[in-house]
Amino acid sequence: MSKQRTKRVIGNWKMHGRLAGNQALLNEVVQGAGAVAAETSIGVCVPFPYLAQVQAQLGAGRVVFGAQDVSAHEQGAFTGEVAAAMVAEFGAHYAIVGHSERRAYHGERNETVAAKTQRSLAAGLTPVVCVGETLDEREAGATEQVVGAQLDAVLAVLTADEAARIVVAYEPVWAIGTGRTATPEIAQQAHAFIKTMISVPVLYGGSVKPENAEELLAQPDVDGALVGGASLDIDSFVAICRIHS
Ligand code: PEP
Repeated sequence: MSKQRTKRVIGNWKMHGRLAGNQALLNEVVQGAGAVAAETSIGVCVPFPYLAQVQAQLGAGRVVFGAQDVSAHEQGAFTGEVAAAMVAEFGAHYAIVGHSERRAYHGERNETVAAKTQRSLAAGLTPVVCVGETLDEREAGATEQVVGAQLDAVLAVLTADEAARIVVAYEPVWAIGTGRTATPEIAQQAHAFIKTMISVPVLYGGSVKPENAEELLAQPDVDGALVGGASLDIDSFVAICRIHS
């Protein structure tokens, strides 16, 4: 029996896209969204230069959108960075912060992710705070310690009201872009742990595809999915959005 509960599916386009291709993909997402349950919130997080395009195409409609990062600073001499307030000016809803690719390739520390979360909230965005362990950390039995420390650093700088406005994405690093997915049991265990720390929506991310999404989304503490690669394939993305849980 399917239990109807609010679910979020957010696509992370990563550094993909061109104007013409985006237009076609967004049109198809909007069309596909028509067949998606009203309880499901659909979002796409796009590269900064395309925020104006998604704003023009999606407006304040059924499919919301966001950025994949924001600066830890409010404004100033930070060449190349983009402030949360700038992202918000385009009507964005979400900002992904602390994605493992930012942590790994740009040396983002937990404290930086915390500052980005604060900046996002101050600008009126919903931060999607990514946490997750590497394979070595999992095999060393340190998953809860690592995820706990990542989340603690963020919660330490937020008021209770602010903390209630974040979304968490559990993304085990070993499952991102690797085709290797956490089993539903592994995901559920990590999500249940996160919910002992904070009561907010917790999305699962890591090679989510239509073939594995149903079981993952059926877990009691999995409140949706952050979808990377499969969000660029319209059939896959809409199929994931259409799963009722
Ligand atoms: C992601 O980019 O957040 C992600 C989960 O990627 P993928 O679905 O490709 O593993």
